[in-house]
Amino acid sequence: MAQVSGNLFIVSAPSGAGKSSLIQALLAQHADMQVSVSHTTRAPRPGEQNGVHYHFVKVDDFKARIAAGEFLEWAEVFGNYYGTSRTTLEHTLQQGIDVFLDIDWQGARQIRQQLPDAIGIFILPPSLDVLQQRLQSRGQDSADIIAGRMSKAQDEMSHADEYDYLIVNDDFQQALLELRSIVLCQRNRLIRQQQRQQDLLDQLLAKSAD
Ligand code: ADP
Repeated sequence: MAQVSGNLFIVSAPSGAGKSSLIQALLAQHADMQVSVSHTTRAPRPGEQNGVHYHFVKVDDFKARIAAGEFLEWAEVFGNYYGTSRTTLEHTLQQGIDVFLDIDWQGARQIRQQLPDAIGIFILPPSLDVLQQRLQSRGQDSADIIAGRMSKAQDEMSHADEYDYLIVNDDFQQALLELRSIVLCQRNRLIRQQQRQQDLLDQLLAKSAD
């Protein structure tokens, strides 16, 4: 079978909707899918590995990459730079691996302008109350941070109509099934299958000898 480039999925959601849990559960089922690893200038936290959680680089290095136009999108957050390298992403896609880019609506817009084939998936919570409960039960954030995330949530969700697919993450297994279906469907699009299954198509359509 011919090597066919992977698909790029942009996944956005208000914080707490379950985006990371869904993507991680899907990756656990498929070896040929990965999350895009960003470049950052922030220091690694304990347990974080270079190339796995982030590509950790120095500020000068990051700025040189900005100047060279290497980032599909980048942002400065609380004094640290974060960005998605075009070279790193394309290298992964060329290996036939589907890549998930976990990014907000603004980053998604920047990516879409440059990579119009990217497929956008937006994850919604079943209600604002449930979103708040999930943020609380995740136990990562203080009350102030949760209030901040809740006030940003509606702004993020107001951009859901810029995506190709919407998933409501109410029942987790159902949402996971829907995410998996979307990803597998994209793999079977004609344009991909014509490359992947070229040999099979040639065999099936070969004129018989007689
Ligand atoms: P995000 O990446 O969107 O910020 P997380 O994946 O961290 O969200 O999920 C937020 C919290 O909600 C986590 O504690 C997670 O285990 C929980 N969660 C995710 N999806 C569901 C679901 N369908 N039902 C119940 N809890 C969920």
